[in-house]
Amino acid sequence: MSDKLILVLNCGSSSLKGALIDNHSGEVILSCLAEKLTTPDAYITFKYFEHPNVKPADRASWFNGRADGDKHEVSLSGNHDHTGAVQALLDELTTHNLQNLVKAIGHRVVHGGEKYSGSVVITDDVIATLEECIPLAPLHNPANLTGIRAAQSIFPELTNVGVFDTAFHQTMPEHAYTYAVPRELYRKYGFRRYGFHGTSFRYVAPAAAQILGKNVEDCALVIAHLGNGASVCAVKNGESKDTSMGVTPLEGLVMGTRSGDIDPSTCSFLAENAGMDVKAVTDLLNKKSGLLGISELSNDCRTIQEAADEGHAGAKLALEVMTYRLAKYIASMAVATDGIDALVFTGGIGENSNVVRSKTVGYLGFLGLTIDEKANDATRFGAAGIISEAGKTPAVLVVPTNEERMIAMDTGRLAGL
Ligand code: ADP
Repeated sequence: MSDKLILVLNCGSSSLKGALIDNHSGEVILSCLAEKLTTPDAYITFKYFEHPNVKPADRASWFNGRADGDKHEVSLSGNHDHTGAVQALLDELTTHNLQNLVKAIGHRVVHGGEKYSGSVVITDDVIATLEECIPLAPLHNPANLTGIRAAQSIFPELTNVGVFDTAFHQTMPEHAYTYAVPRELYRKYGFRRYGFHGTSFRYVAPAAAQILGKNVEDCALVIAHLGNGASVCAVKNGESKDTSMGVTPLEGLVMGTRSGDIDPSTCSFLAENAGMDVKAVTDLLNKKSGLLGISELSNDCRTIQEAADEGHAGAKLALEVMTYRLAKYIASMAVATDGIDALVFTGGIGENSNVVRSKTVGYLGFLGLTIDEKANDATRFGAAGIISEAGKTPAVLVVPTNEERMIAMDTGRLAGL
């Protein structure tokens, strides 16, 4: 194992996800998840991974005798905020004598506005800019800032790096990011399309090009990142040319609980007919819609598929609406890339659901896309590869994403490791 480890932190308003990553190999050594932060029930769970470079003789001390993937939970009732969680993480590292090997910290930051088209070392100026971006991401950016401040106070000597979900999409042309509303809104409030999942697309694009035997600079790719949140991205010459999410992650595809695209009159319709205010409508479209709203059952794609198989009408409809809309979006992204060399699936659903992939590609035969059902069934659960018919172009690929690794790579580079 290398003597340089990177801590990757992803903070939500009441949660903190962390991963300790070997800067050399990219392997995860330890991951953690703190939940219910800011409440007295807060706790943090640590999970250890077998690390190929830890010699068997060292394992007992590294993993304290725990087997691969073993978990253990620590209460944060004494100090239940984000700083308490980062302190518990430091205590855990100290128990295993790992604390001095951590050389830098990478933070997932949701919104970098127009200021950041790449990752940056966090300085006071960067923090001030992230504060300015709060109106664009009122839930996410304050939580990310809390994580940064917690890391700075617990690890004062380490370099912190910010890696933005929006940065990769800063190459979108003006005609792709401009909303057809009065231009003044852009000038005054930065109201435009930004896009998200950029760290995932940036990781997946070169990996897909490699499978195709090409340079990413010579590829036209449409990448579908399908998790609880979902978006598609048109990547040409290694750059984002368009994406389905907008000023917030609500725009675009049908997601777990988000509606995606919807008639902009929805707000006035629901105000007049259901007596809802803006907050209630925003909540409905973000948290009660999508697969959950249509199926009246679940936001989880696996549950939806199982119920659809058993004949649940809502689940069947949710799956149909989701895949039809996804196919329409993929086709529209081919406009941005001016034709495509490959469609790439990633994210929890994209990597695992042969059903969603098959249904979606089924709509796209007119673009020349095909699916080899045997390859489609076989390429799941972490496998990467081509799932279209042999020799047919455009190809259809599955490429598992790894946003944490991408954050660690940027952090290592910017911290000069
Ligand atoms: P997040 O956006 O929270 O990171 P993930 O990328 O982990 O989410 O994706 C979660 C989604 O992936 C869930 O809807 C889950 O049901 C789905 N998923 C995971 N495994 C499968 C599977 N085998 N078949 C269908 N869907 C799956």
